[in-house]
Amino acid sequence: MKNIEKNLNLVRQQIKQAAQKYGRNSEEVTLLAVSKRKPVEDIAHAYACGQRDFGENYLQEAQHKMAALSELDICWHFIGAIQSNKTKPLATDFNWVHCIDRFKIARRLSEQRPDGMPPLNLCIQVNIDAEPSKAGIKLDEVPKLANDISSLPRVRLRGLMAIPAPQDDFESQRKSFSLLADMLAQINQQGLDCDTLSMGMSHDMPAAIAEGATLVRIGTAIFGERL
Ligand SMILES: *Cc1c(COP(=O)(O)O)cnc(C)c1O
Repeated sequence: MKNIEKNLNLVRQQIKQAAQKYGRNSEEVTLLAVSKRKPVEDIAHAYACGQRDFGENYLQEAQHKMAALSELDICWHFIGAIQSNKTKPLATDFNWVHCIDRFKIARRLSEQRPDGMPPLNLCIQVNIDAEPSKAGIKLDEVPKLANDISSLPRVRLRGLMAIPAPQDDFESQRKSFSLLADMLAQINQQGLDCDTLSMGMSHDMPAAIAEGATLVRIGTAIFGERL
């Protein structure tokens, strides 16, 4: 309990500091606590410390946690790889899906999103550094996919998500994030209304905030190393 609380406070402080340093309002930056492979109790502890947004990568694990924590007012984000035959639970159980890389998936999510619920929030995952084996689409494919998704009725395209190639120095980290930020500006210029840059993890959060991240996905720095 103590560590999670301490870690959360530290991350919140780091968000504030980075925002201040780069002339941004820290309230524009949502902290997503990435709880994959961490027990239900850890989520409950973070919740007790005021954390509301949680990210999970594995569907079954997430469903187990949602059932155990159904009393809590949690905003659930799916940030893992999507299997095209498993979209239904994503459409019904989550508030956000961050890793859209093809139209077919977005269309299914729209079709399967229950009518009584608000539209499902989506981000397109971009393979920002064009790494051979990484998930996500190429930068130049973003405008078309974004346009196509924006016509779907039961989903709302919120923006772009990326996991850059691992880089240690701050300036290289910034450079990758700036590509994503530029692309968000470009699709908005084309008439889309996207407000989300889902970028920045435990090792590169300040660089992401410097480049305009509105949602940082932090696991290790809050919950400790994953086994
Ligand atoms: C695991 C994961 C994170 C969190 O990474 P940390 O380095 O532990 O902060 C963020 N985003 C995605 C997509 C992840 O899979």
